[in-house]
Amino acid sequence: MKTIEVIVATTNKAKIKEIKRIIGNNKLIKIINEYLKIKNIDTNEIETARSFYKNALLKARVFADAYGVVQNFEHLHIVSDDSGLCVSALKGEPGINSSRYGGIKDDKERCQYLLKKLKNKKNRKAKFVCVLVLYNSRNDKVYKFRGEVRGKIASEPRGKNGFGYDPIFVPDEGDGRTFAEMEPKEKDELSHRARAIRKMLEFLS
Ligand code: IMP
Repeated sequence: MKTIEVIVATTNKAKIKEIKRIIGNNKLIKIINEYLKIKNIDTNEIETARSFYKNALLKARVFADAYGVVQNFEHLHIVSDDSGLCVSALKGEPGINSSRYGGIKDDKERCQYLLKKLKNKKNRKAKFVCVLVLYNSRNDKVYKFRGEVRGKIASEPRGKNGFGYDPIFVPDEGDGRTFAEMEPKEKDELSHRARAIRKMLEFLS
């Protein structure tokens, strides 16, 4: 069995932590970068496409270029995750704009903004989507893995774990707690990101 070394194309500290946790000590993949080494890249500026997949690929290519030049890797693999929350009553918003919804940078304020938009709406259905791309910069090959989790938007934020919209997302397959009220391992049982990553690990095995 061969371990492939990968760089994760994100500047989101919480996301890389989650990806590392989900991959755990699986020997198929080894993540070789830390979030801090790539802080000079603003992924929000890279995500100019109109689909999760295209944005994931854009990020993968930018990181491949950055690392290829800086570290001179020959066989560079990039894992790139573009994800977001799609709310039915908001016609799929914030979707690909989840990290910058309403032009708001702060996670808590963005949750409040979304709750306000949903005020008086009966339909609270939503889903998290993650499109994960495994990109080989040497031959430009791209593999795509998609994970989704369905749920509802809570009436108010609950819980302190996780990041982003976790305090307002209640997965249908759970017990009524939001993702932020769950232990990290519980979120990993159900999450869109864990589902996409498990598909990638299956593919690699
Ligand atoms: P991007 O993939 O870097 O564009 O960012 C995705 C954004 O979607 C994050 O900044 C969060 O706001 C939201 N998001 C994606 N996955 C999750 C999750 O697992 N929990 C909470 N929010 C998430």
